Amino acid sequence: MIDLDGVLDNYTKYDNNKIPEIKSGAKEFLENLSQDYRLILFTTRNTKQATEWLIKNKIDIYFYDVTNVKIPAKIYIDDRAIAINFKGNYEQTMEDIKNFNVYWK
Ligand SMILES: [Mg+2]
Repeated sequence: MIDLDGVLDNYTKYDNNKIPEIKSGAKEFLENLSQDYRLILFTTRNTKQATEWLIKNKIDIYFYDVTNVKIPAKIYIDDRAIAINFKGNYEQTMEDIKNFNVYWK
């Protein structure tokens, strides 16, 4: 599950009518990640608006689905998944993904 605003775009403040420009390096990150994972975009935005933005930026091919069912929560607890607090760095995010293992294996 990959968030849109602030992860894939240059988000600074919410504008219901416009999704900001794509973040530098986002396309390469998605291309790389999609080789090992089935990617789903999750956003609180309208899914049609989000899908059109994916197509406009030629990154729709990396996504299996788009959903706006994003329940706001501070913490997600799951033994088979990690929620990464994205800090604007795709390389660090990729490292965090690669270094994750389930605790019982
Ligand atoms: Mg966000």
